[in-house]
Amino acid sequence: MIPDEKVREVRERAPILEVISDYMSLRKSGANYQGLCPFHGEKSPSFNVNPARGIFHCFGCGAGGNVVTFVMRMEGMNFPTAVKFLAKRVGVDIPERPLTRDEKRKVDEQEHLYNINELAAQFYRRVLETDEAGAAGRSYLERRGVDDQTAATYRMGFAPAGWDNLAKHLQRKGVAPEQAEKLGLLRKKEGGGYYDTFRNRLLFTISDLHGRAIGFGGRVMDDSLPKYINSPESPIYRKSEVLFGLDLAKKGMREQGSAIIVEGYFDHLALYRAGHTNVVATCGTALTPGHLKLLRRYAEKAYMLFDGDEAGRKATVRSMELFLEEGFPARVVEVPAGDDPDTFIRREGAAAFAPLLETAPPIFEFFYRGLIRSTDTSGVEGKVAFVNEVAPRLLKITDRMERALYEKEICRAVGIDQGMLQQKVGVAPILRPPSRPAPESAGTEEVLLTLMVKFPEVVLKVSEYGADRLFSAGHLGVAQSILAQAADGGVDLPAILEQLDSPEERARLSSLFVEDAHLEDMNAIKAFEQCCQTLERGALKGGGKTLARELARLEPETPRYREILMELEQLRNKKSKLL
Ligand SMILES: [Zn+2]
Repeated sequence: MIPDEKVREVRERAPILEVISDYMSLRKSGANYQGLCPFHGEKSPSFNVNPARGIFHCFGCGAGGNVVTFVMRMEGMNFPTAVKFLAKRVGVDIPERPLTRDEKRKVDEQEHLYNINELAAQFYRRVLETDEAGAAGRSYLERRGVDDQTAATYRMGFAPAGWDNLAKHLQRKGVAPEQAEKLGLLRKKEGGGYYDTFRNRLLFTISDLHGRAIGFGGRVMDDSLPKYINSPESPIYRKSEVLFGLDLAKKGMREQGSAIIVEGYFDHLALYRAGHTNVVATCGTALTPGHLKLLRRYAEKAYMLFDGDEAGRKATVRSMELFLEEGFPARVVEVPAGDDPDTFIRREGAAAFAPLLETAPPIFEFFYRGLIRSTDTSGVEGKVAFVNEVAPRLLKITDRMERALYEKEICRAVGIDQGMLQQKVGVAPILRPPSRPAPESAGTEEVLLTLMVKFPEVVLKVSEYGADRLFSAGHLGVAQSILAQAADGGVDLPAILEQLDSPEERARLSSLFVEDAHLEDMNAIKAFEQCCQTLERGALKGGGKTLARELARLEPETPRYREILMELEQLRNKKSKLL
């Protein structure tokens, strides 16, 4: 159990805006910040963060809560793990009792794996920086013009030649080789024992968005093959969801609203150093929907670096289909033939790259123009071949207007009839944006809760009037928490949301509290009085109904019959006073 005051300290010191901004791009909108919800797919933002209140809510899928809830959901953590995760980030010390031997074994395996990778990263780094064995790596970097500062930023390291340098180091640190094998740092020998995966290679540390080492990419020092080997997938490294350099690029992507996607480590490094800090690299894996989902959290559009060979062309077409399907605007950046971003920038200078971005064509345009160039469309056969290639891709453009414009352009370019192209393309299903569920109108009790949070004078009124007279069981707990906290110096909404057991209730309340601009110019006391009347009227109505039902079952002229008649009369008087 983490002590409550520690949880509170973590919540207070981990500003929700800053924490959530790590995972996605947010823009200011009134008192709130908005962005595309990371928990459900959407194209216009319904995810709201209210930094002053320390809460978030998505009006699209109903997710809501405080900074801890967000991290739990985003990182797939349970409550204590999420609190510890945030505590580490903001430097709050959480005392932990010593674990029993049994518990120790069960300690979150992931945490253990991160630690092993961290040990390895530090080991490789030290070899590159100071060891004799790292000399080859240092002179390689010098030849490529990489200074110490850059090597440190990228946490570059060197895996010495030899079979068991890391294996021995990890053994000294008490790491079980089976665990290191899970991360791909060590491999099993046939005759028993383990050997190092990375030998005589310059290493890039692959980090997650928090900068934790999750894998390595190693380049050979000569021309031997494979040129690169990368860590395999592991419980902490899923390649379809990781982009190299995201931890470095997230700020740049947020600021510029765009992402540059390159293929390799040195391409990344070249652009980053040239001031294009919004760059990420795929490192040998094809772009996946998971990558796009990740990018969408930070950027609204992407630039793909085009690799001029046949494999690169195919990869670009595959990526294009993905971008079109996801409705993610993308452009293609071409560096001159024979160059990659690294060689280009080293020769032409950092400033020469910006114009390539500015003139980059949309990815679909890039595709069909290339296709026109490579197909002889002067004859019928060529035209048919061209249409066969282009039609299925046109179909993937979800925006009808955009598709129609491309159809027109393409037909003009190759001299075919637009009606015929459309016939070939067929009619794509009309994709309606998923309609947002109509917001349930807040009940009177809920309105009253929002008033209490916003206006201290309403808290006073409620406490005079008695919360139990106003709230039903469903909301009474929250109302009482607000009263207690207000008396204690201030309402801590994130804490209240945390006390709720049901996610539905949390979602309902976060939606009420995240936005309250409509309450701004309200006469709070008057609004309170209206709420009271509505609630009492409701109560009277309910009471009256019960009495009337009982009355119907009774014989007239019995004592209870007369009693009920009198009660009903009293209710009617009360009601008319209220009206
Ligand atoms: Zn959502």
